[in-house]
Amino acid sequence: MYQVSESTKKQFEKMMGIAAVREGLEFIKKDQEQTIADQKELVVIEAPTFHEETRAAFVAEKFKELGLMDVHIDRGGNVTGIRKGNKNGPKILIEGHLDTVFPFGTVTGVTEKEGYLYAPGIGDDTRALAMMFGILRVLHATGIQTEGELIFTATTREEGAGSLGGMKDFLEDHKDIDISLSIDNNDMSMLVFEATCGETWEVTFKGIGGHAYGAFGKMAQPIHAAARAVAKIAEFTVPEDPKTSFCVSNFHGGTEAGVHAIAPEAAIKINFRSNSKEELEKLKSKIFQAIEEGAKEESDKWQKDRITCEKKQLGEVPGGTQSPNLPLVEAAYLGLKSLDIEPVFGKGGCTNANVAISKKIPSICMGRAFAPDEKSKEVRNHSINERFPVEGAYKAVQQVFMVLLMAAGIPGEFDSVMR
Ligand SMILES: [Zn+2]
Repeated sequence: MYQVSESTKKQFEKMMGIAAVREGLEFIKKDQEQTIADQKELVVIEAPTFHEETRAAFVAEKFKELGLMDVHIDRGGNVTGIRKGNKNGPKILIEGHLDTVFPFGTVTGVTEKEGYLYAPGIGDDTRALAMMFGILRVLHATGIQTEGELIFTATTREEGAGSLGGMKDFLEDHKDIDISLSIDNNDMSMLVFEATCGETWEVTFKGIGGHAYGAFGKMAQPIHAAARAVAKIAEFTVPEDPKTSFCVSNFHGGTEAGVHAIAPEAAIKINFRSNSKEELEKLKSKIFQAIEEGAKEESDKWQKDRITCEKKQLGEVPGGTQSPNLPLVEAAYLGLKSLDIEPVFGKGGCTNANVAISKKIPSICMGRAFAPDEKSKEVRNHSINERFPVEGAYKAVQQVFMVLLMAAGIPGEFDSVMR
């Protein structure tokens, strides 16, 4: 049975007793339409990973309009701006990512149907950017000052081969961040405070290559070697807890020389993850062994040439874990409870929060959408049919608002929950 500490509970009650906070929660509810409008405006400004510039420029203008100071785009392409706190308060990062998994030309508009907005990227993570705008509006409308300094950031290169790159750059350049808040879960009821580690590799099998008939028997075949390796990997079993996964996500071989040739090269891409670093290392060595074996078996069969394997790391996501009784997690738990939402403790996670957690910065990842039933939970992110449930979406903003204030503290009222 999960128990929240007395001190966190007291602070939460104190916060909820402040008139400006209650006004803020009301304001957010009324601001729903504006936030949805922002979301629709943002989603059509496409931002594939590594190509976030246009969306970044738009967010920078918005951040300025909404009163942030020192708004700029940093060396990592992240848009960042500050809302000052008291001198000695903690520094709090609040972020959502700019990039989406879709190439340019995918988003043609937003359709609205039966309470959902449809557009690739409409939730992940466009909604988070719109939510940050909403948070800035409510802070302005209520005039709430915080003890801690708030650093609003729209990060680049979260997805895929970006491997949380924008966040990595940001935290590299800001070693003084005390608390990190991410918005990147689909469903707001999920409490994500653990970080799944993972790696992505590309392996190229190389041989000689020749005519499918004429050269047959005179050489080993790289595509066959790759297939042997993949067949071995396919047979792996991994623990369910700590959850561990593996996937050959890409398999490519053959050249323009066409269908009657032994291809000189074949390449595979592999992604593997685990909530335990130890399991990840175990799995990695098994995968690498399968690759060597695949190449060796194919080479041994023909005994003419040797297939070589070149391994290249494409990405790395750091991991780590925090206590479920971290006051920040407790604050998020109480926030959800106050909204009549039953918190679900997420197992692992793979968001920008990973970078903060791996650096031992107290961190949590919050959700974008109010999704009380199976249908609304099915948001299909990373698919071109992605959709976002509109009704009650303001609750996700209310949750971020409450957690942010708990993290930042309000002068004369209460200190940061992490102090
Ligand atoms: Zn995301």
